Amino acid sequence: MSKIDKRHHVVVVGSGFGGLFGTQALDSPDVKVTLVAKTAHHLFQPLLYQVATGILSEGEIAPPTREILRRQRNARVIQGLVTDVDLDAKTVTSRFHEKQTVLHYDSLIVAAGAGQSYFGNDQFATYAPGMKTIDDALELRSRIFGAFELAEMEEDPEARKRLLTFVVVGAGPTGVEMAGQIRELANKTLTREFRHIDSRDARVILLDGAPAVLATFGDRLGGKAKESLEDLGVEVILNALVVDVDHAGLVVKKKDGTTERIESACKVWAAGVQGNELGRALAQASGAELDRAGRVRVQPDLSLPGHPEVFVVGDLALVDGVPGVAQGAIQGGQHAAKTILHRIQGATPPGAFSYVDKGSMATISKYRAIASVGKLRFTGFTAWVMWLAVHLLAMVGFKARLTTLLRWIITFFSNGRSERVTTNQQLVGRLAMERLGQGVSGTLMRGDELDAEREPRKSS
Ligand SMILES: Cc1cc2nc3c(=O)[nH]c(=O)nc-3n(C[C@H](O)[C@H](O)[C@H](O)COP(=O)(O)OP(=O)(O)OC[C@H]3O[C@@H](n4cnc5c(N)ncnc54)[C@H](O)[C@@H]3O)c2cc1C
Repeated sequence: MSKIDKRHHVVVVGSGFGGLFGTQALDSPDVKVTLVAKTAHHLFQPLLYQVATGILSEGEIAPPTREILRRQRNARVIQGLVTDVDLDAKTVTSRFHEKQTVLHYDSLIVAAGAGQSYFGNDQFATYAPGMKTIDDALELRSRIFGAFELAEMEEDPEARKRLLTFVVVGAGPTGVEMAGQIRELANKTLTREFRHIDSRDARVILLDGAPAVLATFGDRLGGKAKESLEDLGVEVILNALVVDVDHAGLVVKKKDGTTERIESACKVWAAGVQGNELGRALAQASGAELDRAGRVRVQPDLSLPGHPEVFVVGDLALVDGVPGVAQGAIQGGQHAAKTILHRIQGATPPGAFSYVDKGSMATISKYRAIASVGKLRFTGFTAWVMWLAVHLLAMVGFKARLTTLLRWIITFFSNGRSERVTTNQQLVGRLAMERLGQGVSGTLMRGDELDAEREPRKSS
């Protein structure tokens, strides 16, 4: 892009669903677009759990953003952690390694998504990682398979039991998928691989403070999902709030006020989301409302109050009736893009954003899923096939779809998992980065900028 290019400049923050689809919808000679994101890839979060449990490799769900956009000549991609948005100067400042970039925008789309929320207990993250990034999924893969490895060598029966107890916190779609997959690993994939332990002895517990599994799907589908999980061998404990987590287990408080400690080496946190920190900064600068989950209340057209040139879309935006799902972000990004183009072209902008609900679904394990499309409800094998088809088609890029399909065929027919490689770095990397973030600076980067990849684990 030349320096004398005077076209309207749109800066897009984030290469997730909102940012990528917004950028693609801006494919017009009337604008130039700069997409800035802290990762070099577009992450298909719905399949992260398959990376964590050895079905898919990370590359299959995270194609390079610049490869996806290589044919869109008006779009430029730069990698960097956005550290500041100046609404008055209309600039976005980002950093990658020691390189700082300041971009001037005419219009801005912020699609920075959300991270994991520990509801004010960020210290839990050390022992119960969440699942939002490739880093998270690889760390969890290391923890899950590592627990079986340690159990194989453990002589003490109590310690072995602790190593073979897996607790997933949060009975939403991600928690249900994780619990179902760990159970499937224990029941099928690993059964003949160990000599001193029987992987089927593993306990998989799914915990939630709410009284239902998959509460947003309603009583009937949620009830079916719970039955399916229990049928597989997952222990479902509801109305149980996690009040403490350490390296050897966690403590839950039940509805009757009693507490119980569960000994478990491997915990997964799949409860709660917290809007990206850029949301707080934008809300403060514009006077917009920020809800408890850190989402910014935007105008009906998704713009920031008092700043019609700035749009917040996807998981970071608070819009009544729009859930924090991929379609919400995709449609939001496209709506913002359309509004910008219509304004420049002198056409009437589309006005208020109207979300089209295309249905929701969650998978439990092989052949088991639930789906809700309009007034129709599906369970079991039919829902599972629907889930496979929808997710395959939703992936970006033919290559990713093809390799994912092949992996699924291998996994479903053989119960094998070919993506089980783990490295020491995956397991200890986060702690090392956090230590770096606290102490060491200068030669490298701050912890949260190390490869500009990791979501800072802060909830406020
Ligand atoms: C494990 C999991 C499973 C899910 N399953 C489903 C599902 O089955 N179906 C469904 O519809 N939805 C699902 N979702 C939800 C869906 O993925 C999100 O709603 C969607 O990704 C939101 O899109 P977004 O663009 O708002 O944010 P994201 O996709 O999270 O993208 C945010 C982008 O912003 C970048 N970014 C963040 N901060 C900065 C910064 N400071 N500087 C620069 N870049 C930054 C990130 O790197 C990323 O590129 C799932 C989510 C998770 C975590």
